[in-house]
Amino acid sequence: MPDVVYLNGRIVPPSEAVISVNDRGFLFGDSVYEVLRSYGGRLWALNRHLRRLARSLAAIDLHTVDLEEVRAAIEETYRASSLPDAVVYLQITRGVAPRAHAYPRDLQPTVVITVRDVAPALASIDFDGVAAVTAPDLRWRRCDIKSTNLLPNVLAKTRAHDHGVDEAILIDAEECVTEGSSTSVFWVAQNRLFTTPAGPEILPGITRELIAEIAREEGIPLLAERVRLDQFRRASEVFLAGTVHEVCPVIRLDDAPVGSGRAGPLTLQLQKGYRARVAAGDDELR
Ligand code: PLP
Repeated sequence: MPDVVYLNGRIVPPSEAVISVNDRGFLFGDSVYEVLRSYGGRLWALNRHLRRLARSLAAIDLHTVDLEEVRAAIEETYRASSLPDAVVYLQITRGVAPRAHAYPRDLQPTVVITVRDVAPALASIDFDGVAAVTAPDLRWRRCDIKSTNLLPNVLAKTRAHDHGVDEAILIDAEECVTEGSSTSVFWVAQNRLFTTPAGPEILPGITRELIAEIAREEGIPLLAERVRLDQFRRASEVFLAGTVHEVCPVIRLDDAPVGSGRAGPLTLQLQKGYRARVAAGDDELR
């Protein structure tokens, strides 16, 4: 069980954190979410996560959520945890109604927040370099919405774990890389840094956004391009970006080494830059 649970306005004992079987989040995945981290007792990038949440809510036509109340609830729940280094999960569903596909617009959204120690999640990530497999991207055409419809991601991630590796890098119908099952993807080719373009094919990752800012500040040009898998396999560096993965080198892909088989120089530079921003608590929008 998570360390602390918030449900619809109050912090509750985990045994009382119960959701209706008619909750549309449960029935239809009719809900959106955010995952954020804290470092040293401070929530990281909260404003950015709230901005993306607002975008997700608008995109699913859910207009009855007060974002300042959500901010206060996240802060209150996080404080109650007393965990310096935590993962905060927020989910907002459209609410509870007898099962029918079309939604009423007057429902009371269900708001759930959980806070957990980040340590177990970090223990399974090797920040010196992880292995990944490729998997087909079976998702819908609005991957820019952070919705809880994650079945394709769940299947791909489990396939990666079945192979004994950390992440599945998703390949679309045109044989191009989109992103990881729970991470954004960057790569280096001919000493140039690339990521996949923003658009409905990928989630607008908060870490991706921060890395783009760090690259700009460090004078590293970042190109947003689609890449075919055959070209991607020839990249000299690949790394994953995400709230929990931060900047994480990929050193093997489908049983072949990536580049030298060790974390490359641009990856390490950006990993260092990201950690410096975190250490300084510098998550202001640029
Ligand atoms: N892409 C997908 C599909 C994700 O699920 C996530 C995070 O969960 C990310 C990218 C990384 O996003 P962020 O940096 O906001 O954690």
